[in-house]
Amino acid sequence: MPAEFFEPISNQKTPPVYNFFDGTAWKTSSSEKMLSVLSPIDGSEVGELQAVTHQEIDAVMEVAAAAQRNWEATPLNKRVSIMHLVADWIRHFEDYLTTILVKEIGKTDSEARSEIKRTADLTDYFADEAQSIRGETLDSDNFPGYDKGRIAVIERVAYGVTVAIAPFNYPVNLSVSKIVPALLMGNSVVFKPPTQGGISGVHLTRIFEKAGVPAGAITCITGEGNSIGDYLVSHPKTDLITFTGSSDTGVAIAQKAGMKPMVFECGGNNPAVVMPDADMNLTAREIVKGAFSYAGQRCTAIKYVLGAPGVLDQLLPVVLTQMKELVHMGDPRSPETKLVGPVVSVRAAEQFQQWIDESVGKGAKVAIGGTHKGNYMDPTVLTSVNSDMPVVSREVFGPVVSFIAVPGMDEAIGIINKSSFGLQACVFTKDEGTGLAFAKNINVGTVQINGSPQRGPDHFPFLGVKKSGLGVQGVRYSLEAMSRLKPIVINKPS
Ligand code: NAP
Repeated sequence: MPAEFFEPISNQKTPPVYNFFDGTAWKTSSSEKMLSVLSPIDGSEVGELQAVTHQEIDAVMEVAAAAQRNWEATPLNKRVSIMHLVADWIRHFEDYLTTILVKEIGKTDSEARSEIKRTADLTDYFADEAQSIRGETLDSDNFPGYDKGRIAVIERVAYGVTVAIAPFNYPVNLSVSKIVPALLMGNSVVFKPPTQGGISGVHLTRIFEKAGVPAGAITCITGEGNSIGDYLVSHPKTDLITFTGSSDTGVAIAQKAGMKPMVFECGGNNPAVVMPDADMNLTAREIVKGAFSYAGQRCTAIKYVLGAPGVLDQLLPVVLTQMKELVHMGDPRSPETKLVGPVVSVRAAEQFQQWIDESVGKGAKVAIGGTHKGNYMDPTVLTSVNSDMPVVSREVFGPVVSFIAVPGMDEAIGIINKSSFGLQACVFTKDEGTGLAFAKNINVGTVQINGSPQRGPDHFPFLGVKKSGLGVQGVRYSLEAMSRLKPIVINKPS
């Protein structure tokens, strides 16, 4: 069944060569250039993707722009039904998509499976919520100097062609969290999956196509971000950009795109703050899961821990003990592996190693780990770190967490607010009042009290400040972000 369902997307050779989707057909690129996707698990080739040309992007943008009006004119109830069908197909292919995710991005079976299940649930929730997104009317006489001579009918309309760019770490979930709200609000979507994660992306696109999204309303172009990204985001037919990825790429896109609306989710680098009264077992468990799940390759991963020296001395042995139980680095397909598989590439591991070594050179101490072999990094805890060291000033997108001793909470707040990142932070204390007071003083998107940073539940608002993002996501917020207000004012001259 999967072979038949997914047949047109690849040439069925081993390893398969995947086509791109121009909105009407699955095609090979005239570039005749392929991008090889290697498994982070063992370097074996999972498949090859087309590297599309600028001319092919132009053609896709034309098709997407032409299809958008009809798609927006399609009754909402029909768009909603199609999205529910997308959710059903995602569930139907749970095993198949899980297998691809494990191979392509090195998640464990349970991490991959939970991404697929969550994505199906998210799609259904989006579709249900879209039913209650509506416009409003406003009378003119509320404002001083106006009588009842006008009424504004304020509709919510699509932007037009939405370019959706997703990252490698959740290539199914973070693609759907863009494509589905954009489509529900009447946009057409030009989907650019990550290259590592692109095989999941083309399968996902096929599901949208099969579920009944009409020709041109969904397209999928593959190619390296650094070759086609600038062209795509600055394209005159691009009306909205929704992007998740690193802060460096986000800044580069914003500079190239000019005056286009953007919804960005960028780098995390999230702190955990431990108050003296914190429950040490709970805190250690949340830090271990928060720092090491999916080898630390989550935007909401905990990257550094702030606390008074005595508090950190108490916490460290509890963290190390819990790591023995909760963390086991290895091949993500092995049942013995817990939380830490490979990082995405050898290049990434080497970069993180360099930042660890530089930090150790400046006085950081390795409590555990600190080395790598290929792209398998030992789960690492560093102590005696300060915020200027690269393991904190940069986003180490791997299984590394740094302990920073601070004399008091004002210094902790200073470090967090000085950081160029601002996605989430968490604070551990038995006194929620202390947690609330702390939360009010730090400039991040979301503060978690007594829990590690996380995106879910997916209907909560999710946002980053500073270099961590632009705009707000989360089911209702994403539907609003991917549509705009259009007031039509009826004047009633007396
Ligand atoms: P990335 O290297 O920035 O890539 C993200 C996407 O952007 C990929 O599809 C990439 O394509 C594309 N891209 C690269 N250069 C581009 C350009 N010049 N113009 C347009 N697109 C371009 O990020 P990643 O390594 O995939 O993902 C990890 C990062 O994402 C981390 O920083 C993490 O914190 C962040 N993230 C944030 C959130 C959040 O919600 N805040 C969630 C998940 C991940 P190629 O793959 O072809 O290069």
